[in-house]
Amino acid sequence: MEIIVLKFGGTSVGSIQRIKEVAKIIKSYSRKYNVIVLSSAMSGTTNKLINMSLKISKNFSDHEYDTLVSAGEQISCSLLAGQLLENGIKARSWMAWQIPILTEGKHKYSRIKYINKNKILKYLRSGGIPIIAGFQGIDKNLNITTIGRGGSDSSAIMVAKFFKARRCVIYTDVEGVYTTDPNKLNSAKKIQNISYEEMLEMASLGSKVMQAHSIQDARLNRINIEVKSSFINKSGTLITKRKNIINNKIITGISSTDNDAKVTLVGVKDRPGIAASIFKPLSQNSINVDMVVQNISSDGKETDLTFTIKSIDLTKTKKIINKYKNIIFKKLIFDKNVSKVSIIGVGMITTPGVTFRMFQALARKNINIQVISTSEIKISVLIKRTNVTKAIKCLHQEFKLNK
Ligand code: ADP
Ligand code: ASP
Ligand code: MG
Repeated sequence: MEIIVLKFGGTSVGSIQRIKEVAKIIKSYSRKYNVIVLSSAMSGTTNKLINMSLKISKNFSDHEYDTLVSAGEQISCSLLAGQLLENGIKARSWMAWQIPILTEGKHKYSRIKYINKNKILKYLRSGGIPIIAGFQGIDKNLNITTIGRGGSDSSAIMVAKFFKARRCVIYTDVEGVYTTDPNKLNSAKKIQNISYEEMLEMASLGSKVMQAHSIQDARLNRINIEVKSSFINKSGTLITKRKNIINNKIITGISSTDNDAKVTLVGVKDRPGIAASIFKPLSQNSINVDMVVQNISSDGKETDLTFTIKSIDLTKTKKIINKYKNIIFKKLIFDKNVSKVSIIGVGMITTPGVTFRMFQALARKNINIQVISTSEIKISVLIKRTNVTKAIKCLHQEFKLNK
């Protein structure tokens, strides 16, 4: 029998009632496939654990963070396995260290490098359904690790890769990937097929329906992903390679963020190497700079430099800029009330005028654009956070995404 990987997100296993429903879904596959299940923690659990750590310290140890937050998946997996046993189905929970799922890299942001298949294959052969904890791993020194928020998606893709699964189904609380977050815009439409490239951009630009790393892993390993609802039995979205998709739309989706901050250094010396001197200490401190804009100086001496970072890094960024004496500027301005709105679509490669249409649509609604960044298949603008809903709505209309 072929292997299928089923991943259930936090809301899907968010209560005992939900766990009972999920057990039924698992059973429905078990006659046709060898099923491997990946589970997230029950919704809210991971956040609760993180909040507890923050009550102890704002600088809670990364090592202890991983041990703490990985605990949520232990609870959901044992409850789910227990429910299957109760229904007369052979099942057991597997924590990452028991398999093991080996990771590399820093605590909190590790990546899965290798999965030992032996024990799970033996268990499958014995007729059992393994319920594997998503999000967690173990490193070569036997430390418990985690692979970033939303990481169970990545766990599922990597399990599908190592076990050469026929399919990988991501069960979540919406019917699939939509043109934009359906919880923010009622007229959002379910997308039938989307390319890895577009999904990767959407996920990186704020559509949390899939974790961005997981899409990279799927693209590299050519794993088709089906995203669907665990609440209602309807066809979902297929994430696959571009060649498999026929699409005549210019724009496929719209994403937005709500955790950006804008930093402006006013009166920076306009000479070579100055931008590097600012961004070097930031990168050394693991602060990711996203959008950047530098004004042309009118007098050839001074300029203003604006960039965006994650709001969570704001205090650290402020400290670094003030600490490094070789960063010379007149004034430092911060703005936490900004958001990035992006339109994404492979169609824009071959269609001229997309940028103009986006800017015009926003202008008509009186939405001021603060910073712009583009790639081959996306255009992002930074705007006031209070304008996000209005911006998504008007762009959705402009590019006829509800048709
Ligand atoms: P899970 O716990 O199943 O992993 P997540 O909360 O991580 O679920 O992701 C599902 C959520 O992603 C949805 O409830 C929805 O609000 C949000 N979302 C954001 N953008 C999109 C989109 N383009 N399509 C579908 N859902 C989206
Ligand atoms: N439980 C983890 C989180 O909340 C992983 C996941 O849900 O995928 O981030
Ligand atoms: Mg998720």
